[in-house]
Amino acid sequence: RDASPPDASLLRVMSNIGAQLGRVIERKQAEERLRQAKEAAEEASRAKSSFLANMSHELRTPLNAIIGFTRLVMRRAKDALPVKQFENLEKILASSEHLLSLINSILDLAKVEAGRMEVKPSDFTLEPVLDLCLRTVEPLVKNEGVQLVRDVRDTPATLRTDEEKLRQILINLLSNAIKFTEAGSVTLRVRPVGESVEFAVIDTGIGIPADALNAIFEEFHQVDNSATRSHSGTGLGLAISHRLARLLGGKIGVESREGAGSTFTLSIPMRIAGAAEGPPSPRPALPVTPVSRSGAKLVLAIDDDPNVVYLLQENLADAGYTVIGASSGQDGLLKARELQPRAITLDIMMPGTDGWQVLHALKTDPLTRDIPVVLISIVDQKELGFRLGATDYIVKPFEREALIGALARIAPDNERILVIDDDPNVPDLVRQLLNAEQCTVDWVADGAAGLERIAQARPSVILLDLLMPRMDGLAFLDALQADPVGRTIPVVVLTAASLDTAERDMLRERVLGLIDKSGLDRAALVREVRRVLPVLELEAADGGR
Ligand code: ADP
Repeated sequence: RDASPPDASLLRVMSNIGAQLGRVIERKQAEERLRQAKEAAEEASRAKSSFLANMSHELRTPLNAIIGFTRLVMRRAKDALPVKQFENLEKILASSEHLLSLINSILDLAKVEAGRMEVKPSDFTLEPVLDLCLRTVEPLVKNEGVQLVRDVRDTPATLRTDEEKLRQILINLLSNAIKFTEAGSVTLRVRPVGESVEFAVIDTGIGIPADALNAIFEEFHQVDNSATRSHSGTGLGLAISHRLARLLGGKIGVESREGAGSTFTLSIPMRIAGAAEGPPSPRPALPVTPVSRSGAKLVLAIDDDPNVVYLLQENLADAGYTVIGASSGQDGLLKARELQPRAITLDIMMPGTDGWQVLHALKTDPLTRDIPVVLISIVDQKELGFRLGATDYIVKPFEREALIGALARIAPDNERILVIDDDPNVPDLVRQLLNAEQCTVDWVADGAAGLERIAQARPSVILLDLLMPRMDGLAFLDALQADPVGRTIPVVVLTAASLDTAERDMLRERVLGLIDKSGLDRAALVREVRRVLPVLELEAADGGR
């Protein structure tokens, strides 16, 4: 039979199906292309952020060295340098710090872009934050005709949001306002609006032309971007603030008239949505007194950059610290166990070793876990640092004062010398003989009182008399020996008793030194105490003996 001509309606159906199939295939292909493009874009974005992270690490390391060395020379050579040269150093420092803040901004922006900027909400009081922001920008006011005004009304006492990001935005808006205002005022006005808080930064400055209003929130955009413009800046501040405001669930708006001034308004929810954390992570309690076998104020610096170690040595030397460097995590762990330093400074970013791992290892080893660790890093990750047991966190480039402050909190600068003697003249004499600024001399009249005092706080060294009422020196030494912490405290015996050889030998095994008290000789006291506390700067020894 001949095939009958195909039914027209069947043909239509067939061609419809064909067309449908074609569309499905096309769609599938398009989806596949889209998926590939998305993957490529994600890969590119990952590559970009990791490039930026590495790059900024590479850039910041030498820059930190430049800042550190410049500060050092400025501090050390201030009197030796001609004024002009000192001013040149100030310029180097200002430029380096500017460059560093630029690099930090670029990194911030990259982080937000890559979705790697976390929001860390906490409950906090608003007033101190506002005070801090105003105080931070105050030095920027160069013109006496410009007034900084604080206008806060009816605002909630506490907010729940990311405090650091709020501060960053406010400081950016305030410093812009100050920068672009020659006369009049810059006002920080804070008001509640429904469930939000509105922070308005109002200036009477140069204003912004209407056609530029939208663009200023874009990266690197500046109204005047001529090479001869009179204001410095990068054009990144507002771009970052704008993105940070969005992260906080809010927004920034601007109103401005050229020549009349500008108002930037940040509006954020009083209580940010999402899981709220408790108050910012508490610092772990300071270990009572780190048991330092050597007694010296020894600081171990774990950092792969020898420049950093050198800078630490130079900056800490005249504060009485001896700094020993370890160039890798492995080396650091070994030295920490061996040297039992007062404190450890640790860099988080070291090639080949992860600083977090080193911190973890230090904090889990019973031999090192009581040694306080100060993280010194160019990455600001305080939360993680404290959670892993760091005692303090300092962001590079470090300020000498910040560092010494941190160390002083950990390993108090003042050495405590406990004098146990029934003669009240002895502590008095010891005070006069030792440099009173660097040590406190504590005094009790007998051994029993001495044990009580030691239970309260561990002294750096004990000066012990042997003949005392209630509990004499030997009984005291026995009791001390039985105590695991007490055993580690160095003891110097002050004795007026004439001891026989056996007694002397017995004492020698248990104590660090013996000093004949008859006429308590300064040279001997200094020598003995110095063996325990080599950092004590004792007053220059009496001229010839
Ligand atoms: P930067 O201030 O570093 O250049 P910003 O992103 O903070 O970068 O600001 C971008 C531009 O917006 C500035 O260069 C300036 O032209 C304009 N601008 C910002 N704030 C003000 C203000 N308060 N008054 C006038 N112009 C401003």
